[in-house]
Formats: sequence, C-alpha cells, structure tokens
Amino acid sequence: MSDIEHGTYGGYQQHKVKGVPLTPECGCEEARNVYMRDYRASHPDLRSRARVHAKARQRALSALAGLHQADYNRLFAAELRKIKAEGS
Ligand SMILES: [Zn+2]
Repeated sequence: MSDIEHGTYGGYQQHKVKGVPLTPECGCEEARNVYMRDYRASHPDLRSRARVHAKARQRALSALAGLHQADYNRLFAAELRKIKAEGS
C-alpha cells in the first residue's frame, strides 16, 4: 500500500523519494508539470540565472582542477574509462 498523495506535486516528489514508478493515471506527473509551468512563469529570470550559475560552476571546476591537478587527472581518467565501458 502506498501513502503517496497522488495528483499533487508533493506526490510526484514522494514517487521519486520512494522509488515508486509514476503512472499516467495517478496524476502526479501532470501535477508536477503544472507546478513547474507556474514556477517558470513566476520566475522569468530562471533560465538566465541557470546560465550564470552553469558558467560560474564551470569556472570553479576549472580552478579546482588547477589547484588539485593530480586528483583531477585521476578522476578524469576514471570517468573516461567508465564512459568507454558504457559504450558511449
Ligand atoms: Zn502518483
């Protein structure tokens, strides 16, 4: 039995947290879409702010890589091996 409040944005989050698959019938995904549409409408600067944050994050990661070059090279090589193993 599920204690998820279906048809709500909170229900959508409960699906994700509990690992319960969404179904079109329960209405949670639609509720999430409506919530996100309203959120974007009431936060018109959301995309430009996300771009600025992505740019800052990329610069910070580059600076961090420069400060810890050996660790960065090891992590980069490990991720590269994982990607190749995935066949991408
Ligand atoms: Zn649901």
